[in-house]
Amino acid sequence: WGIAGDDIEELGVKLGEGSFGVVSKVVDRVTNRLLAIKHLPLKPDPEFRTGIARELRFMFRCQSPFIVKFLGAYFVDGMVTFCMEYMTAGSLRDVYLAGGAMDQKAIKLVAKSVLEALHYLQSRDIMHRDIKPDNILCGFNGEVKVSDLGISVHLSDETGAAAAVGTLNYVAPESIGAGDGAADHPHAADIWALGITLVELAVGRYPYPLEDVDEVETRNGPRTRGIPPPSLDAFGHLDYLESGTPRLPAARFSPACRAFVSLMLERDPQRRPTPGDLLRHEFLYDLDLPSLHRHMAKVVQRACPAKFDELLADKAEHPRRYAP
Ligand code: ATP
Ligand code: MG
Repeated sequence: WGIAGDDIEELGVKLGEGSFGVVSKVVDRVTNRLLAIKHLPLKPDPEFRTGIARELRFMFRCQSPFIVKFLGAYFVDGMVTFCMEYMTAGSLRDVYLAGGAMDQKAIKLVAKSVLEALHYLQSRDIMHRDIKPDNILCGFNGEVKVSDLGISVHLSDETGAAAAVGTLNYVAPESIGAGDGAADHPHAADIWALGITLVELAVGRYPYPLEDVDEVETRNGPRTRGIPPPSLDAFGHLDYLESGTPRLPAARFSPACRAFVSLMLERDPQRRPTPGDLLRHEFLYDLDLPSLHRHMAKVVQRACPAKFDELLADKAEHPRRYAP
């Protein structure tokens, strides 16, 4: 699968830990470049292995500047190891927890990048199904990319694609029984999850339980540290959804930006716009991607200064690891 286990040199650096496995930073001995690898335990059942093999085949085919590059995988001792592009600043969750509420330009770049990724996936009949700040990675150069296509499925391969999977916090109303249309508009669930994610990044807190964001920010200013999201059961999540729809604070976000995010949080999946529709929204007119990347670079460097210094030191010591 593109890479052999022997080619990987462990550096003993753990980048994070998800619900299924650990992610670490390693060097590919063949190219001398940095990679991130994710170890997952394999279920002994052969059907699961076939499932993974199919998954890998399509991950290999997903090539987009807005999707974390999948580089290969290998199986050792009942574990599967995925190799992917190393994203120097980690996830947007890491960034907002450290740096607090993000501004409109950062939100614009995240929206544009994730929508381009979803648009690309949708053209191949793929849903992501796990859009959340943890699965959007970013580099100190300001690049933002979607990762973890792991639980996404090929709609044509699988029935029940619209069933609720993934972290409950980002599950759309229709997928949890608070509305109809899940089966007819499966892709709409990714857009809901993006809407919640954008509000979370913009206010520095998972937006439920609802708060009066305007009042909170008038009193204290925008959060300078993020608050980690609660973990919810299905009933808690339903109660939250029924309590209303989150929105962006009016003082820091333009009417076009607020309208754009509200469209993603439209309850009726049939009326929720597609990635293509949203990419044509006036909020994203005339955007200058390089300038948004430069802005995001400053945002992440300010949020995670120690990690950035570490990167600069490592770059000085091992320039080849970072050669383009
Ligand atoms: P889930 O298991 O539901 O996907 P998660 O996204 O938190 O949850 P992982 O995908 O295992 O879990 O990732 C854990 C953390 O590791 C991420 O939040 C991120 O900080 C870091 N990470 C993951 N992939 C990379 C990568 N390619 N480059 C740099 N850091 C990464
Ligand atoms: Mg993940």
